[in-house]
This record gives sequence, C-alpha cells and structure tokens, in this order.
Amino acid sequence: MTSVFRDLPGQDAVVAQLRRAAAGAAVVLDGRRPEPGAMTHAWLFTGPPGSGRSVAARAFAAALLCPSGGCGECASCHQVFAGTHADLLLVRPEGLSYGVKQTRDLVLRAAGKPTGGRWHVVLFEDADRCTEQAANALLKAIEEPAPRTVWLLCAPSAEDLVPTIRSRCRVVTLVVPASSAVAKVLIERDGIEPARALAAARAAQGHVGRARRLAIDASAARRRADVLRIPSSVTSLGPALSAAAALVRTAEEEAKAVTDGLDEPERDSLRRAFGEGSSGKGVAKAMRGMAGALKDLEDRQKSRATRVKRDTLDQALLELALFYRDILMAQLGADVEFANSEPDLRAVASASSPEATLRRMQAIMRCRERLTLNVAPLLAVEEMTLALAEG
Ligand SMILES: [Zn+2]
Repeated sequence: MTSVFRDLPGQDAVVAQLRRAAAGAAVVLDGRRPEPGAMTHAWLFTGPPGSGRSVAARAFAAALLCPSGGCGECASCHQVFAGTHADLLLVRPEGLSYGVKQTRDLVLRAAGKPTGGRWHVVLFEDADRCTEQAANALLKAIEEPAPRTVWLLCAPSAEDLVPTIRSRCRVVTLVVPASSAVAKVLIERDGIEPARALAAARAAQGHVGRARRLAIDASAARRRADVLRIPSSVTSLGPALSAAAALVRTAEEEAKAVTDGLDEPERDSLRRAFGEGSSGKGVAKAMRGMAGALKDLEDRQKSRATRVKRDTLDQALLELALFYRDILMAQLGADVEFANSEPDLRAVASASSPEATLRRMQAIMRCRERLTLNVAPLLAVEEMTLALAEG
C-alpha cells in the first residue's frame, strides 16, 4: 500500500508521530479513547523553508480524512491532494498579512460539521502572517475547538506565532533533510538521473521542491548560475552596480512569471462568476458589482505580487549567502558537504580571507533585513554588492 507520507524524505520522526496521531484519530471516531498524547485538535507544523511543513500537514490531513488512515489511493486521498476535498479548508495567505475579517470567516466555516462524517480539517499555511487581531480570533477557535475540527497551522518556527497560540498546539518539527534523502526522492519519484539529482539536492540544501525545479527547469538553473557569478564578478564599483541591477531584474522577472500564471485565470473565473457577456435584466447592476469585486481581486493580486517578488529576491540572497558559506568552509579547510560544486569556488576562496568572507555574509544578511523593512530593493541590493566588492 502506498502511503500519504511517502513524500517526506528524511522526516522519519515526524512521519511516526503523524501516523500515531492518525491512528488515535480513528480510535476517537470509533467512540473510544485514544492512547494519551496521540491525537489533539490543534497542530503546528514548523521547519525551515522547503523542509516540507505544508507537505506534512497535507499528508496528515489526508490520513485524517481517509477511511483507511491515509492509503494515498482512494478518492478521499486524491481529493485532499488536489485541494478539492469538501472537509478540507485550505488557507494560503497571498498577501503579506492575513486579516481579522478573513480569520473570523474562516473560524465560522471551520466550525461546521464534516460532510464525510470524519473530521473537518483546516490547513493554514504561513499562519505567521496573521495580524495580531487575526491571531486573537484564531486563538478563540483553537481554545474551544468544535468537536470534529482539526487545525493544522504551518509556520517557519514556533516563535513566529504568539505564545498563546503556540502553547495550545502540538508542535511537529521538520528537520532539514540530508541531500542524499532528497536526491532519492528525485530519482525514484521523478525519474531524474542520480548525479544530476544529487547536485540539485545539494544546491537546494534540503529544499525538496527547489531541488526538483533545479533538476528539471533549465531557466531556474540558469538564474541560479547567474546569482553565483556575482562573487567573482563584483571586483569594483561598476560591476557591483550592474550586478545589483541584474539581480533585482531577474528576481522581478521570475516573480512575474509566477504571478502572471495565477492572475489571468483568477480574473477570468471572476468574470464568469458575474456572467459577463450575458444580457437581460439586472446586467447593469451585476456589472457594477463586478467592478468592485475586480478591484478587490486586483488589490489582492498586487499584494501577492509584492510578496512573491520579495520571496524570490530573498531566495537569491540566501543562495548567495550559501555560496559564501561554502567559501568560508573551504578557507577554513572544514570537512563538510559543499552546496556548490562550481569550479571557481576554490579560486574565490584563495583570493580572500575568512574575515572578508564573514563580512560579506553579514552584508547579505543586512540586505535581507533591509528588504523586510521595505527599503527599495535596488537600493538595498546595491549597498550589498558594493560591500561584496569591498570585502
Ligand atoms: Zn485513502
């Protein structure tokens, strides 16, 4: 039997914890008492980006809703993975924050009885984006849960949520999986050739989705190569400034490719919902309603575009930081697995000192911080590349 937990490489402890919980949940549905500590109504999935916290939460949701505890093959399991299961509420904040009104709506919907007779599962990705008021609304629902509602919150770390919510959740901690475990998934599931799979897994540092993209998407691999050329190219003011401009532009293009693919279908389905193109009574009124809804949608899309742009640039900066970490390890002669196998790594390493490398890493981290403070991206990145050039 395949299992819903098969896509969680290197997360054996988490898988064991969730299997036990799912078994406990089935016991509850039978009207018996589960073993103590197995099942609870609020869960918090934490782990670094790409470790698979939402994959784990989704698998757990499937296990709770599946009549056979998460077979991965039945209609219920398929619906959970397609996001169409009637008893699964998927929440994915698309802007930078999730408001109190949205949260109150969510709490109301979550309180309903499950149509399939098992559980009503709310999977809340990026729960750390809740505003303070939203978190308070959420807290009430978690403190007094409806008998058949299960909350699955996801956040990078437990500290990203207010203590009151954190303390009421059972925490599931995903770890950064070993490159070999990630490569194994790419080889077995996606049929990627072993050497390529391992190189991509190392480059992605345990981020399964990113590793897969690097292995199969040539443009993602090319963009990464562009980022990694920065250390050897920023030798003076001119190259530093043009490297900054290129980095910001590439991140914007990549983000646009992502959001364009989402925006268009959303606008179309909204228009269809308002029956654009039909005629007769009430059309004028419907058109006015649509204008308002379209404006709301555009606002949400704009907010999402900002977030995707920021995330994409941040990803590039993390890659750059990782490259310097490799350089530092090479300079210190440390015996560790390098994320990068680029040939010029050693050349860059021998051309500078560990102290300079550390200063450069600090410049990258400072840039990331400035970006979260809404400093204009080009300005923050230029400051960084100039610091990289200086050493
Ligand atoms: Zn199933």
